[in-house]
Amino acid sequence: MALLLKGGRLVDPAAGLDTVADVVIRDGVIVEIGEDLTIPKGVTIECAEKVVLPGLVDLHVHLREPGREDEETVSSGKRAAAHGGFAGICPMPNTEPVADEGSAITALMDLADDGFPVQVFPVGAMTVKQAGELMAEIGDMHHAGAVAFSDDGRCVQDSGVMRRVMDYAKMFPVTLMSHCQDDALAGRGVVNEGVVSTRLGLPGYPAAAEEIMIARDIALCELTGCRVHVQHVSTARGVELIRVAKAAGLPVTCEVTPHHLFLDEDMLDLTYDTNRKMNPPLRTAADREALLDGLVDGTVDAIATDHAPHAAHEKQLEFELAPFGTTGLETALSLVNTHLVACGRVTWSQVAQWMCHGPRSCVPLIPEQRIEVGRPGTLTIVDPEARVEVTREWFVGTSRNSAFLGAKLLGKATEVLVDGEWALKGGKVVER
Ligand SMILES: [Zn+2]
Repeated sequence: MALLLKGGRLVDPAAGLDTVADVVIRDGVIVEIGEDLTIPKGVTIECAEKVVLPGLVDLHVHLREPGREDEETVSSGKRAAAHGGFAGICPMPNTEPVADEGSAITALMDLADDGFPVQVFPVGAMTVKQAGELMAEIGDMHHAGAVAFSDDGRCVQDSGVMRRVMDYAKMFPVTLMSHCQDDALAGRGVVNEGVVSTRLGLPGYPAAAEEIMIARDIALCELTGCRVHVQHVSTARGVELIRVAKAAGLPVTCEVTPHHLFLDEDMLDLTYDTNRKMNPPLRTAADREALLDGLVDGTVDAIATDHAPHAAHEKQLEFELAPFGTTGLETALSLVNTHLVACGRVTWSQVAQWMCHGPRSCVPLIPEQRIEVGRPGTLTIVDPEARVEVTREWFVGTSRNSAFLGAKLLGKATEVLVDGEWALKGGKVVER
């Protein structure tokens, strides 16, 4: 089957592209890029006024299968990903039971093999049951297909255990992903510790609780030589620690989430909106600016959503009792366009770096993707002028606990192709 993408603006910094041209995909592979291309038979997609990016990848996604299929399944999460423009996702292992052995990774891959073309790159647990005590079967999970390891949702508190995990994991070409949090210091905090926690009368979680563990993991990275990826960095000092580590040549990478980039603690108010309760919590406006500076200067490698679906009845609890997290897969790209590209602060080339190439450089086992002849036909096509109103009904994923409900956004993925197969077409998730 041949596909002709006609007249789109192709943007790919890795391929040195920012130009209007046509792309021909045949049998799942990009076979021709140029002007005025034609195909004898096949499907032509008009891409005028659209931006064509190499397929986006989200490094940080929570699917709830097995255990909480009422919140998200592997299949529903893949469809939510496509709706948001992602061609690939990395599910975290904090399911019930925890994905902490090879058979769990194999089971996840079987669930992901549902005929829907979004790619799934599993992340296994670092420790058994994510309890932070015994190292999990990392080699076994790697051989089953895990590309990275994380105890996300939790943080290994025992530095000796973390060191052993790093010593072992560095024998494989995998990435350790760390949710950096000193539990004793974070305590029962549910928002950033500071003026806003005082005003709202909610227990605070200080920035230092995150920064101490970022500093520890950088020190352990230096000690062991193991590749470390800091998940959802949310504070200015956290970014600075990583900037210094990178300058010293350490194999440290990091990600930021759209909610930490585009929301801050001042947006919490007396409505006590539990969809804005997340971990790490929304920080200060100055932290937000530092995260964006970190992206622009290359300290922050990737934008990742930390897509965290939760059942409505659980988010309807009091703020202190509701679970942490917001969904993110479906709104990330539109938020980035609305707040950064459309207003001229960043370019599409930078977006391609942060949402396609950056994630892949953090996790080398995710195959590289470029808009180049001979590469897979894995692309995300964006209509930068599309209007999105974020309502509960607009979502495709099972849960609707978005911190951005009610937002009016600009720009939307209209097509997602994975190896030449449609996951999203005309803005609609393709039924299979
Ligand atoms: Zn986390």
